Order: sequence, then C-alpha cells, then structure tokens
Amino acid sequence: MLCAKFKMAEKSVPFVGKTEIGKEKVKKKITEKDINVQFLLSIGQKTTGTNEEIKERADLFRNQPKLTEFLEKEVKARKQTSNIFGRELDGSKIPLPQEPWKIGPFPTFTAKQLDQYAQSKLPGRKSMLEKGERFFNSRKIVTMRVLRKNDETWVRAWVKQSYGEVQRPAFVKFNKIGCAVGGSCTCTVGVSGLCAHVISVLYQLIHHTQTGTTKNL
Ligand SMILES: [Zn+2]
Repeated sequence: MLCAKFKMAEKSVPFVGKTEIGKEKVKKKITEKDINVQFLLSIGQKTTGTNEEIKERADLFRNQPKLTEFLEKEVKARKQTSNIFGRELDGSKIPLPQEPWKIGPFPTFTAKQLDQYAQSKLPGRKSMLEKGERFFNSRKIVTMRVLRKNDETWVRAWVKQSYGEVQRPAFVKFNKIGCAVGGSCTCTVGVSGLCAHVISVLYQLIHHTQTGTTKNL
C-alpha cells in the first residue's frame, strides 16, 4: 500500500511541474523592459533598477546615437579580446616533447595585447600578473621552444618554481591568425589555463617581440 502511494506521488508531481513550466515558456512575452535591458547590455551599461529607471537610462542613450554607436563598438571589441584564453586547453592535444620543437622564431605578442587581455580577463587578479612579471624578470624561464602544427603555433617554456630548482613546462597556444587562445601548466593554478608561469611566458614573448632578440633560451 505504501509502495503504491509512493508511486502515485512520483508520477503526478513531475507531470504537473512539467506542464506548468511549459505553459510559462509559451506565455512569456518580450516586454518593454526586456528590450531596454537588451539595448543597455549591447552598449555595456548597467541594467539594474526599477523598470522606470531602466527605461529612463535606455532613452537617455537612445537620444545620443553617436555615443551609443561608439559604446556598441567598444563592447564588441571587448568581446573579441576576451576570446583570448577563452577556454582551458585540452591536455591530450598538447604536443609531445619529441615533436620537432624549434628555438624560434616566436609568435608576436605585445604589451598592449597583454594589457587588453588583463582588462577583460584579469580584473582583480593583478597580483597574478605581477607574479608572472616577477618570474620573467628573475629569469625563471629556463628554455623556450616553438612548434608549428596544423595551422597552430605552440610555445613551450620550462619555468622554475617560486623556490628551488624544480621546473615545470608551461604552454601557450596561438591560433592560425596569431592570437593567443589558451595556456596550460601543470601547476595547481595552471590547469585553468592561466597561472603566473603562463603569464611569465607571455612576458618573455613580449620581450622577444620588443627586442627582436634571437638569443636562445
Ligand atoms: Zn603554472
């Protein structure tokens, strides 16, 4: 008897729930607020406040088409740069040590690119950026090699740990148009694709780009 009751409840509860959710989806209409929020998002503005405040803010920008156009372009550009290091690299796709790694030339990477990247991806993580720069300045990078494979360019560097002589490899991947699209490192932070070791590699690449040095590392 108990079992039967339990079964009934199991059947009826999800059934009612699903129907209601389904109805809600069909019912939902695009409101004036939705339109205003969408518009404000497209120009990178706040979308908080009451319906009235949102409408007021949206109308304010609608009356300034030139400013709106400028902001829209900025938001689009920001979205593009935030694709850099958009996802962590698949470890199984990282080229193996026995592949024909070369001592250069390395892909171009500029301080401006790192700056853009830091603005879009690293707010509040300035310390990581500084740590990476310190690693570069204190010559923690022991060797750096480059590999071109299937339209992609890989940079691999052996980077010393904060203390001691232990080294670990850090990788940066560039896509076929030369954008840095991901990083990888075996340290605990590095699995997410971004750690001070990977950043130190970016600083090393900036140094190579600025000085045009071909000095082997
Ligand atoms: Zn690391």
